[in-house]
Amino acid sequence: MAKLKLEYIWLDGYTPVAGLRGKTKIVDGDADKFTLEDCPMWGFDGSSTKQAEGKSSDCLLKPVALYPDSSRENGFIVMTEVLLPDGTPHPTNTRATIPDDEGTWFGFEQEYFFYQDGRPLGFPEGGFPAPQGPYYTGVGFKAVGDIARTIVEEHLDACIDAGINHEGINAEVAKGQWEFQIFGKGSKKAADEIWVARYLLLRIAEKYGVDIEFHCKPLLGAYDDPLDWNGSGMHCNFSTEFMRTTGGKDYFLKLMDAFSKYREEHIAVYGPDNHLRLTGLHETQSIDQFSWGIADRGASIRVPHSFVKGDAYKGYLEDRRPNSAGDPYAIAGRVLQTIQTVPTS
Ligand code: ADP
Ligand code: MN
Ligand code: MN
Ligand code: MN
Ligand code: MN
Repeated sequence: MAKLKLEYIWLDGYTPVAGLRGKTKIVDGDADKFTLEDCPMWGFDGSSTKQAEGKSSDCLLKPVALYPDSSRENGFIVMTEVLLPDGTPHPTNTRATIPDDEGTWFGFEQEYFFYQDGRPLGFPEGGFPAPQGPYYTGVGFKAVGDIARTIVEEHLDACIDAGINHEGINAEVAKGQWEFQIFGKGSKKAADEIWVARYLLLRIAEKYGVDIEFHCKPLLGAYDDPLDWNGSGMHCNFSTEFMRTTGGKDYFLKLMDAFSKYREEHIAVYGPDNHLRLTGLHETQSIDQFSWGIADRGASIRVPHSFVKGDAYKGYLEDRRPNSAGDPYAIAGRVLQTIQTVPTS
């Protein structure tokens, strides 16, 4: 028996973007044999997280996924859903509203900025670094600085230790901007892992005095001037079992019709302020248009070469519209909802 440190984490009631919250519960247990089923229900003061009124402030935390936390001896991270006192999902609990299907695979590419002293890490005080160009996948102090890669590497190890299906990292187009990718079979698994990876990133960056900026367009500016910097997306790559095994051009075109028809419903959950990012520039399609294109990074949905190979129209597609601050539960849920409107025969 040991004292296990369980970090219960949840999404708060802030809008338009939920924040992450966490608190520690100590339980007696055996770290080697500890499972999700061993995690008790817990609660918190919802009046401090915009999830309840002060006079009736209790919210419940229902454990839904467990991850080893290598930063703490005998530590675990417990992903939870917020419930009302009667045990029904809290209105802020988007996870509870989405269907789950292990046959649907999601790969999210999370972009973000490191921030320090109110500006992207590596930006000089009151000015700008050299224009975009050398930063994407860059190497060397001038391109990526020093602290950034230290944090990125520590985060990668923390995710792998946690059992998160982390797929890779790269420095992004803007200075101080990075990306990681996570792949999961099933909407809830993939989205849980994005939220836990965000949590780990925020927590690791604390000790370097660095913040994570998830806003999709922290730097505004006209195209091609020194103030012009890429925004941050969270591309959503998806495939159903049918798309991977059968597919076909007819089905693909019907699927794209459905995505076009529900354009507004998708945009509504693809993250706040997305009009600032989806401008038609910087490898985006504008927010009020829907398009798909083969290998086209200026389309709403990019169709990989591998998808159209041999005219098979089989595999996965990339929805490039979701942004870095979007809720992956809501994004995956909307993608599933639209897919379900299209008959497979
Ligand atoms: P790019 O930057 O060129 O868009 P990345 O390598 O960053 O490409 O991201 C590709 C994403 O596609 C990864 O997150 C990966 O997990 C995901 N992916 C690959 N195959 C599938 C699939 N069959 N279903 C869903 N997602 C997939
Ligand atoms: Mn990528
Ligand atoms: Mn990217
Ligand atoms: Mn990008
Ligand atoms: Mn992409």
